[in-house]
Amino acid sequence: MINLKKVKNPMPEQDPIVRAGNFEEVAEGYTAQMAINEAMRCLKCRKKPCTKGCPVMVRIPEFVAKVAEGDFEAAYQIISDTSALPRICGRVCPQENQCEGFCVQGLHGEPVAIGRLERFVSDWHAAREEEMEAAALEAAEDDEFAEFAEEEVIESNGRKVAVVGAGPAGLTCAGDLAQKGYEVTVFEALHKPGGVLAYGIPEFRLPKDIVAAEVKKLEKRGVKFVNNAVIGKAETVDELFEDGFEAVFVGTGAGLPSFMNIPGENLLGVCSANEYLTRINLMKGYLPEYDTPVQKANRIAVVGGGNVAMDAARCAKRMGAEKVYIVYRRSMDEIPARAEEIHHAIEEGIDFQLLKNPVAVVGDENGYVTGLECVEMELGEADASGRRRPVVKEGSNFVLDVDCVIMAIGTKLNKLILETTENLEANDRGGIGTDEGAATNRDGVFAGGDAVTGAATVILAMGAGKTAAASIDEYLGE
Ligand code: FAD
Ligand code: SF4
Repeated sequence: MINLKKVKNPMPEQDPIVRAGNFEEVAEGYTAQMAINEAMRCLKCRKKPCTKGCPVMVRIPEFVAKVAEGDFEAAYQIISDTSALPRICGRVCPQENQCEGFCVQGLHGEPVAIGRLERFVSDWHAAREEEMEAAALEAAEDDEFAEFAEEEVIESNGRKVAVVGAGPAGLTCAGDLAQKGYEVTVFEALHKPGGVLAYGIPEFRLPKDIVAAEVKKLEKRGVKFVNNAVIGKAETVDELFEDGFEAVFVGTGAGLPSFMNIPGENLLGVCSANEYLTRINLMKGYLPEYDTPVQKANRIAVVGGGNVAMDAARCAKRMGAEKVYIVYRRSMDEIPARAEEIHHAIEEGIDFQLLKNPVAVVGDENGYVTGLECVEMELGEADASGRRRPVVKEGSNFVLDVDCVIMAIGTKLNKLILETTENLEANDRGGIGTDEGAATNRDGVFAGGDAVTGAATVILAMGAGKTAAASIDEYLGE
């Protein structure tokens, strides 16, 4: 049956006033009945345009049809055929530019809520799996059922692969290789695996127990994690080969923050969004029982218009700031963050200063920030990216009264691996150069995710991890 309702079934959410004071997840997830109702909005289009909009080609109409029938396990199996981290993608993918952007229902109303359905199905499956594990553990006290509580047994093929970086690219590559029997060790610079999923995206968008559960699944598959290991410092990629690894995948991301190089950027009270978010998310600065120092301020300007800027602004609100500004140099039509994050930020009272650009950070005699001097902008001709170029309105300078400035204007690639791996070539964006199969110019060295493309998305990083795992399998299988 098809339901021709023009709008999505709304997502239950925490009230904006309440949630702006806590770090619990904003969106609460569909109930089974809501998911079935939403799935019934699918038109079962013959050409399946939504599938083409998905970077990993999840067979969307097939899984949505199973949800409509109430067969959630079958729906999960279809999704997990192609997507390694569906609980994460259902929450953070920019669906409006991907699958939902191509949905035919969207032509005359709102598209089918494909992301919400993916989240529902994968949460449903995870809850069932947890129940079954708990039951198996209890039953294991009875020897008869012990086998159900044991680790997933995959026969090893005896070949060792190293993965550098435990973000979505590295985790996906590790998972696929372990599934094929490789002995995989993941080396991660930070003290916890997950990459941006752990240190960047806040708890209220992506609960960290979901990331931890994905890591645990990989451990059960035999993947070993070595944290606090900066490859290129502790050991080089070349030394990993000497240690017996036969292939290396590099998924080190693009986490080096950019600054504007404007006067006053070294004043006390200016920091990068990456540092701010890492202190809050990875180092739990929002919890009173942790000692992590976090910039405390009442009036905060976050510079930028991407997901990172929205996350920093919404964290600042939750950390107790009275006034939080987003300062973005283009208009709402060009803003790059996910539509849902912008909507949530507005609901939570973030003040959007659009068509404004900082020219200097202003400070007092003790070196502390007291304001952000900005100019107004107007949109001129389109630039190479197709977006209209912001042009300064002469004489429009003004000062925003703030005591903290968070820079969220993008990140760059860290060159450490390129500089410490013999003869490894870069691409023209400054990332690690690869062919379509994620192979670099160095024999046995593969790379993918933000380390190759520059800052992109979780699903693209995952897709690159998958491609690399298939190429490594082919390379070592020869
Ligand atoms: P990363 O996730 O960056 O992981 C790389 C890992 O490698 C890190 O853990 C790092 O510590 C480790 N590492 C680096 N150097 C070394 C080394 N030398 N040795 C060992 N380990 C190393 N995308 C979306 O699709 N939706 C969103 O809503 C979204 N929101 C975002 C919010 C924030 C705050 C940020 C920063 C990014 C966001 N993104 C979002 C982008 C997305 O998270 C990234 O594109 C994605 O995580 C890239 O995955 P990756 O595996 O390539 O790299
Ligand atoms: Fe269903 Fe939308 Fe895909 Fe058409 S495009 S099959 S309506 S999800």
